Amino acid sequence: MSLFLYMLTAAAAFGAWSMKSLTPGGAFGAFIVGGLAVAGFGFTGMAVMGSFFLSSVLLEKVLKSEDKKEAKGARRDAVQVVANGGPASVCAFLQLFFPHPVFLIGFTAAYAAAAADTWASAIGRKSTEQPVSIRTGGLVEPGISGGVTRLGNLAAGGGSGFVTAAAWLLEPEVFSMIIVLLLFITAFLSQFADAWLGAVYQSLFQCRVCGEKTEQAVHCSESTKLVKGNKWWNNDTVNFAAVSLGAVSAMLLYMIVTG
Ligand SMILES: [Zn+2]
Repeated sequence: MSLFLYMLTAAAAFGAWSMKSLTPGGAFGAFIVGGLAVAGFGFTGMAVMGSFFLSSVLLEKVLKSEDKKEAKGARRDAVQVVANGGPASVCAFLQLFFPHPVFLIGFTAAYAAAAADTWASAIGRKSTEQPVSIRTGGLVEPGISGGVTRLGNLAAGGGSGFVTAAAWLLEPEVFSMIIVLLLFITAFLSQFADAWLGAVYQSLFQCRVCGEKTEQAVHCSESTKLVKGNKWWNNDTVNFAAVSLGAVSAMLLYMIVTG
């Protein structure tokens, strides 16, 4: 059974690479992250990770931005895979040595938080209203981190709920109603943590050639200059921090609720 699941993980990583959803490094990273999910939690691990992964890939394909620059960035590399799947992989790794339901909670919360963020950005950019800065409440440019829309918030709830529901269907003994609710809320709120970290710390650059504000280090084939935030805080750092925060909060709340 496990061998079959590992082979399925390898096939999914290969498929995502051939569909141009992952770079070769991203596909390798996805295989490691998926392998850890299977090793730690078997079929449930694979299904929970799969619900995040498949829904994200499909949403990004279907709602692909017409903007060429963004479309290119839709292909995930190893760093992006680790930013989304790293915290869950730590939980899967710990489960191998110290088996405890709390690690499945952290694992699920991490993927629910990652789904909330991915769904919010994929669906949110179709919003017709201009994003509002989570920090200042003022209007911000679409696609700039720290901006939230009502449609994006709704999508974050959808992503969080989708992954949580997958875990609840497979492990109803672990995921009682109160735990499901707690996970859903934690993952949903981590999307706001993501936006807040993005607004406060994330680096924003300006192109020296065309003057456009961008999150890319290179624009118009020239290196851009930092105009806001810390250069070490990019979209991946912010994602990793928000997903980790979601996982750790859910684990702490689970410990409190279950005594
Ligand atoms: Zn430019």
